[in-house]
Amino acid sequence: MRFPVYLHNVATLALDEDKCTGCGACLDVCPHAVLVRHNGRVRIDDRDACMECGACATNCPVQAVTVQSGVGCAMAVINTALGRSSSSCCCVIETSEQKAANSSGSTATPR
Ligand code: SF4
Ligand code: SF4
Repeated sequence: MRFPVYLHNVATLALDEDKCTGCGACLDVCPHAVLVRHNGRVRIDDRDACMECGACATNCPVQAVTVQSGVGCAMAVINTALGRSSSSCCCVIETSEQKAANSSGSTATPR
């Protein structure tokens, strides 16, 4: 299955194949199957499908994969702009109010 392309040739996703141990964590968490197994490691198969959610980089135990996350998911951006604290996609962008509440330890009021 091919996933939507957001913009061509702009994803910040990078993979250091020499660092990759082939653990597969990035394959498990990527919602768009951007990475695939290749010769005991992984390779980037569909960079333009990357929505820069950051899940792969967060879960890679050896920092073989990097991405500048937080700007790629249009649905999360739209839902956040509408004041929703959860989204219908796989990621949620915190509003500045929610970030402040979370960093202070208090609970943000769900909208
Ligand atoms: S940033 Fe998200 S969409 Fe892009 S490769 Fe990593 S897990 Fe997949
Ligand atoms: S999580 Fe990191 S080490 Fe594991 S397969 Fe993916 S890139 Fe390689």
